[in-house]
Amino acid sequence: MRKFPAPIHNAIAALSRLPGVGPKTALRYVFALLRMNKQDREIFARAVINLENITECSVCFTHSEDPVCAICKDSQRSNSVLCVVSESRDISTIEATNTYHGKYFVFGGTLNPIEGATPETLNMRELVERLKSRPEIKEVILAFSPDVHGETTIMFLSRKIKQLGRKTTKLARGLPIGADIEYADEVTLGDALLGRRET
Ligand SMILES: [Zn+2]
Repeated sequence: MRKFPAPIHNAIAALSRLPGVGPKTALRYVFALLRMNKQDREIFARAVINLENITECSVCFTHSEDPVCAICKDSQRSNSVLCVVSESRDISTIEATNTYHGKYFVFGGTLNPIEGATPETLNMRELVERLKSRPEIKEVILAFSPDVHGETTIMFLSRKIKQLGRKTTKLARGLPIGADIEYADEVTLGDALLGRRET
């Protein structure tokens, strides 16, 4: 890499840690930041620092500013359906479809033992506890992406959850195989939710 003053070098190194950002893109971003006026650059820096205020909801494990997130606190939402997602960001994708009005649970990833993602490293124990302590949950939607790891996770979870006497469903086909929920359009994902099938 070319030689740059330390602050530029450090900013390139920091931005390169973001997904999809290689050294060349990072370099472009840093020069864009240098072209900003001081005030705009401060707004940018403060936005990153303020992420420190984000914590994990103690009920569903999504990102939240409060110990319990707005969705978990919302008494208008149904407590009889629980939608289990891989990552916190999947919740905003599903919320954008405007078709789901139950509660959520973030599993923390998909099962992938080779990469160290096992029920023990994910939120398995917490999910079982949630179901045991909330008998009003009748249906658990396993809203994982239809790829190998997503399907493996659905199979594993549906067996465990059925043992607890709850119905499990998964998203209807319509999501392209291997497609990530994150990139599904709202209409397709909404249809997949409404047309969910029992596992
Ligand atoms: Zn929550």
